[in-house]
Amino acid sequence: MNRLTNQIALVTGAGRGIGRAIALAFAKEGADVICLSRTVENSEKVASEVRALGRQAWAHAVDVSRSDAVDGLIRSVLAEPGRVDILVNNAGITRDGLLMRMSDEDWDVVMDTNLKGAFLLTRGLCRSFIKQRSGRIINITSVIGLIGNAGQCNYAASKAALIGLSKSVARELAPRGITVNAIAPGFIQTDMTAVLKEEWRKDLLGRIPLGAFGEPEDVAQTAVFLASPAARYITGQVLCVDGGMTM
Ligand code: NDP
Repeated sequence: MNRLTNQIALVTGAGRGIGRAIALAFAKEGADVICLSRTVENSEKVASEVRALGRQAWAHAVDVSRSDAVDGLIRSVLAEPGRVDILVNNAGITRDGLLMRMSDEDWDVVMDTNLKGAFLLTRGLCRSFIKQRSGRIINITSVIGLIGNAGQCNYAASKAALIGLSKSVARELAPRGITVNAIAPGFIQTDMTAVLKEEWRKDLLGRIPLGAFGEPEDVAQTAVFLASPAARYITGQVLCVDGGMTM
C-alpha cells in the first residue's frame, strides 16, 4: 500500500478495461490520476471512482492519435495539475481481418491509435520528465506483438513497433533517470475480448498453462510494480502477463 504516494499518473484508455483497473490500482497506492479516454463519459466516470478512493483525479476526452489534440492535452495537464510522474500508454484498438482483405483505413487507424498515440504522448511529456530528472513510462503492448496472430497483422505490427519504441526511448532517457518498460498482456477479460467467438476462447484457453484468462487487475498490479520504487533498476523490458502463454 501507498507505493505511489505523491505521484501523479496519466493513464490513456482509462475509461474501461485495463486502463480503468490501472487508474484505480494507482489511486489505491496513493497516486493522483489524470484519466484519459475517447469519451468524456467514461473518463469522468473513472475519475469519480478515483476521487471516491480519496485521491485527486482529472478527466479528459482526447483522441491519442491526433497530434494537435495531444499537444493541447499536454499544455492543459502541465498547467493543472502541473506535473506528470508516470505515463501509461494503454489506449488501444483492434480492427481484425485477413491481410489480403485489410483496408488502408483499418491499417492506419490501428497504427495511429496504438503506436502513434504512444509516440505523441511520450514526446509531449519527455521534456518535463527530463527537467524533473525522473519519470516512469509504461507502454501496454500485447503478446500478439511478440508471436503474431492470423487476422491481426495491423494490431501485431503496432504492438511489435511499440516494443521497439519502448526500448529506443528507454535508451534515450536512461541517462536522465527515466525508465521505460512495456507490459505484454495475454488474454484479459475486457470489452475488447468479449467479442471473441466461443470456439476461439476454448482454443486459446487450451494454450494458457495457468488454465485461465487474465483479469484487468493482473495487468494493473504489474503496472503498479513498474511505477513503484521497487522497479527503479528496470528499464527497456517487456513483461508478459499471460498465464505462461508465451514462455
Ligand atoms: P478496451 O477496449 O476495454 O478499452 C480501450 C480504452 O481505450 C477505452 O477507454 C477507450 O476509450 C480508449 N481508446 C481507444 N481508442 C482511443 C483513442 N483513439 N484515443 C483515446 N483513447 C482511446 O481495451 P482493453 O482494456 O482490453 O485494452 C487496453 C490495452 O491493452 C490496449 O492497448 C490493448 O491493445 C491492450 N491489450 C489488451 C488485451 C486484452 O486481452 N484485453 C491483451 C493484450 C493487450 P473509451 O472508453 O472512451 O471508448
